Amino acid sequence: MLRRHIKARGISDPRVLEAMAAVPREAFVEPGLTRRAYADGPLPIGEGQTISQPYVVAWMVEAAEVVVGNRVLEVGTGSGYSAAVLGRLAETVYTVERRAVLAKAAAARLSELGCDNVSVRHGDGNEGWSEHAPYDAILVTAAGPGVPGALREQLRTGGRLVMPIGGRWATQRLVRERCGEAGQFTREELGAVRFVPLVDEVC
Ligand code: SAH
Repeated sequence: MLRRHIKARGISDPRVLEAMAAVPREAFVEPGLTRRAYADGPLPIGEGQTISQPYVVAWMVEAAEVVVGNRVLEVGTGSGYSAAVLGRLAETVYTVERRAVLAKAAAARLSELGCDNVSVRHGDGNEGWSEHAPYDAILVTAAGPGVPGALREQLRTGGRLVMPIGGRWATQRLVRERCGEAGQFTREELGAVRFVPLVDEVC
């Protein structure tokens, strides 16, 4: 998986590659799908949601420039897979999931795997997780029309926010925003992606 799908597409940060190698993706997919766990595509995780394609996880994590000591917020816990990868790189990871069933399953899985620096909360990620702000990096793993204001407010100066921007059916672009010294945000477009929508009701 690492060589064929991740390094071959240009992911080169050795720490990101090490984190991807260390997290067992099969632990995050349904038992009947373990044989496809390392294939180059998204997989269903129940509740109509998906665990992202491994390459996309590596791409977002690299784009967020997570380094030792960082405090990271993720919106869209899903299976908990990307949170586990982030947990290998960051000091602490806070991840928010709107679906109670998924949040509970992810929290149990992460604790079983010993990902002790990752905390899961059931709630609306559009609001971030203000108790632990500011964050060095924020990753949103569901697509919306724009960056939620609360997430910008919870990003530290110099922090990076990575999120797919676009509608449910429209083309989505992965963007990175940086928070500058004067509190201004600069945006870069990184490429085309396809994510499930960021929805604002919890269930
Ligand atoms: N990062 C995940 C993949 C996430 S799929 C993994 O590695 O498995 C996107 C997830 O975002 C879904 O689980 C969906 O329920 C969740 N989501 C959508 N809108 C949300 C919101 N407003 N707040 C929190 N989670 C949300």
